[in-house]
Parts: sequence; structure tokens; C-alpha cells
Amino acid sequence: MTASGNRSQTNKTTGAKNAAICDIAVVGAGMAGMAAALRLQDEADAPLSILLLEACDAVGGRMKTREIGGVPCDTGAHWFHGGHENPLFRWMTQRYPQLETAFDDVSRQFSVEKGQVHGPAFRSGNLEMMDAAYTAFKKENPGKDTSLADIARRTGDGGALETAAFFARCWMAEDDAEKVSADEFFGCPYSVGGGVVKGGVSRLIDAMKEELEARGARILTGCAISSIEQDASKVTLADAQGGIYEAAHAIVALPLGVLKAGKVRFAPALSRGTQEYIDATSIACFTKIVIPVDAGFFAAQNIAPDTHIDILDEKTFCHCHTGGAPFITLMAGGRDARAVEKMDEKDLQAFIAKSLDAVPPLSGWRDALRGTPVVTGWNNAPETLGAYTAVKISGKRRDAQREGRIILCGEAFAGEKDEAEGASMTVGAWFSGRRAADMTMAERMREAA
Ligand SMILES: Cc1cc2nc3c(=O)[nH]c(=O)nc-3n(C[C@H](O)[C@H](O)[C@H](O)COP(=O)(O)OP(=O)(O)OC[C@H]3O[C@@H](n4cnc5c(N)ncnc54)[C@H](O)[C@@H]3O)c2cc1C
Repeated sequence: MTASGNRSQTNKTTGAKNAAICDIAVVGAGMAGMAAALRLQDEADAPLSILLLEACDAVGGRMKTREIGGVPCDTGAHWFHGGHENPLFRWMTQRYPQLETAFDDVSRQFSVEKGQVHGPAFRSGNLEMMDAAYTAFKKENPGKDTSLADIARRTGDGGALETAAFFARCWMAEDDAEKVSADEFFGCPYSVGGGVVKGGVSRLIDAMKEELEARGARILTGCAISSIEQDASKVTLADAQGGIYEAAHAIVALPLGVLKAGKVRFAPALSRGTQEYIDATSIACFTKIVIPVDAGFFAAQNIAPDTHIDILDEKTFCHCHTGGAPFITLMAGGRDARAVEKMDEKDLQAFIAKSLDAVPPLSGWRDALRGTPVVTGWNNAPETLGAYTAVKISGKRRDAQREGRIILCGEAFAGEKDEAEGASMTVGAWFSGRRAADMTMAERMREAA
């Protein structure tokens, strides 16, 4: 098939006006969608017309930097876990050498419990204990999965269940450690913290967007796709304003929350296996509350940049002095995340106070407040409806799925856990988008043969 070019005309089949026709439509321009489009440009023998359709008024999805009090702040993803071990981080530094990066290993870390401050050994001791119990469990039960709570009980340590509940909420954004898959919890190949982009992750997104457009891709923002239909020869996509787009193939890089909520109609419907997988995968909720403080506060409190504090009693944590910026970033996970995003100012202040008052090294934070805290809402936003995905106990991650002329990718299908490719992380979305592009190219070659 030759490149058909981006053009507008009357659609002869449906009679709809302004159908934009292209070789490949990519629905959703987060990391997965943008990575898919770049990979298509890299791998195609002849130029392809690529159309990215994005619901929000900017690309990047859950990778977004916002100015808060004049300082850039990553409101969604921040760390490229594992730094240079992370394939996306490596790709980024080679492809866009103009981006400045830094490494935040979160080694300045402590925990607070019942007013007591514990050094990093406290957390690592707890994790090592559970890790040993998990290793023993796998030895006794090869191929079997269990819950994080069960692993905690197996340590024989009285406090381990509490620790498991903390990690369930703060790392997996799940309220109940009984529901967290131990395989998923212990299977992640990357450590906490990692590489960061100086000035924020939006610099990477901007670089990707610029490259895509320079190489001829068309990006339509403010274009929420509501239906995707396909027949033997094409895919027809419709947006909420009545715009129609036709493509020979489509890559769907929508968040799991959007797919679970059935916000996009597929005709024919998605296959049973794909729908069952979408239904069975949980959506994990996680939100950041960015609290601007006086620049001198951290120095006065002797808190170094990128200090991480686990607040065990409140089952939350905060990241302080992020990249040297004057913020305390407080995290809310599980049911708290959705609730926090809907709170009025009074309730939000109470939530913040309860968490920060439990941390002796942050005493005086009230006097240091500099402006209103900002809640970064991903969990109630119709375009994301959640932060991460989580597979259930004994669940398996799926790779990109082919549904006729459509390849479904995105976080929901961000790599097989067993391949250790960063599920629920930007690197997983990147892998997933690239694999969707490869599958699409293979389809095109089959058709051309
Ligand atoms: C608070 C928070 C912190 C995080 N921290 C980290 C971190 O430190 N490190 C890390 O690796 N990961 C982190 N993540 C996870 C990471 O952000 C995601 O895994 C990744 O960004 C997902 O990329 P994606 O392209 O699959 O989805 P998204 O980024 O959600 O992109 C999907 C796109 O589809 C668009 N869309 C939705 N509906 C429609 C529609 N109907 N039509 C057209 N477009 C539509 C959306 O607007 C969005 O732009 C974090 C996430 C959150 C929320």
C-alpha cells in the first residue's frame, strides 16, 4: 500500500464530511502512542501518513510537567526507574542528547512510625525480610503466586502485615495487601527512584512531538475518539464532535481506565479474551499533592534534595525538595487518591495536616507554606481514570493485542511481567507502543505480499 497522505474530503462510504484519511491512526498520544508513531517512522521503507488523535489539549498523557509557583513540577510520572538500566532512559539520552538528566536514587530516605524516625535500614530490613519469605515461598511452590499479605504472614514478624499494608497502598496503590499479587510486587526489575529529566518530563514529550511533526506526522489534540469501527479494508474512527477519520490500520493507546469504563465503542466488539483481560486487570489510583514551601525551609530543617519519607501510620509517603525544588510532594494511594481529588479546601488541608504533622523533621511546615497546594488529578479525569494498572494474584501481563486492523497497546498491555519490562511504568508504555508499531508493520507487509 502506498502512503495516502493526510487529506480531508467527503467520505464516500459514510457520507460524513471532513474524513481525514491516513495510513495509520494512533489513538491517544501518551508515551505509548508517541513511541508507536516514532517507531513507525523509523521502520517504514516508504513515508507513512500517521495521524495521532489525542483527547486532551496537549500530548504526553500521564507524563506532564506543570509550573507551580514558577517552578517546573512533574505532576504524573517523574522517575525513569533504574536510570541507565532503563531502556527508555537510555533511548532518550541517545536520541535527544540536548535533554539534561540527573539521577535520584532516593537514598536520602527515612521512615516515620508513631513519632519515631527510622533511617533507611528500617525500610530495607522490612523489605529484605519479605523478600526472603517470598523466595522461600517460590521454592516450595514453584509457579504459584500468592498475596503480599500472605508473604508478610510467612515472615513470622508481628509488624510485617502493617508493613505489607503500607507497601500495598504506597507502591501498588491498592488498599488491601490481600489483593496484591506477590509476583507483581517482587517481580519489578527496577528500584525506586531513578533517572529524571531536568526541567521536567515534558521536555522529553516536547522533543518527541517536535520530531514526529518534523517527519510529517499530524497530531490532532482536543479530539476525543468515541467510536472505532473496522471492516475488511479500513478502520473508521469518530470523535465526540462528529469528526471522522479513516485509516488502513489503527493503534489504540488508551489508558486501561478508559477501556474499562467503555468510553470508546468498538465495532465489532473487542474479542472475548481481550475484554476479559481488561475486566480482570485492576486500576490502581494514585495522586500527588504538591505543597509549595519557602525555598529556605528545607535548609533550615536539614532536608537534602530528593528526600523520601515513608509515613507508615498514615500509609502514605512524601518526596521533599524534589530536584532541589521548593515542594513537599505528598502521595495519596488507593481509595484516598480518588477522595483527595474531590476534596474541598478544608478537607484537603486536614488531610495534609494529618500526614505532615506525623513527621517530626517537617515540623514548622505550616509557617513555610507558600501558596495553595495543588492536587494533580488523574483518577477522576475522564482521559485517564487511574494511575497504574495491577494484575490480580496469578494474573499475567499481556503484550499488545491484535484485533483485526487494530492493535491495542498502552499501559494495560505494557509488556509481559515475566519479561520484566516495566509494567505500569513509562518504560512499559514505551515498549508496548513500539511492539504495537512492529505488529502493524508486519500486518502491512502481509497485506502487500
Ligand atoms: C501520579 C503518577 C505518578 C507516576 N509516576 C511514575 C514514575 O515515577 N515513573 C514511571 O515510570 N511511571 C510513573 N507513572 C506511570 C506512567 O505515568 C504511565 O505508566 C505512563 O505515562 C502511561 O503511558 P500511556 O501512553 O500508556 O498512557 P497515558 O499517558 O495515559 O496516555 C494515554 C493518552 O490517551 C488519551 N486519551 C484518553 N481517552 C482518549 C480518547 N477517547 N480519544 C483520544 N485520546 C484519548 C489521554 O488523554 C492520554 O494522553 C505515574 C503515574 C501517575 C499517575
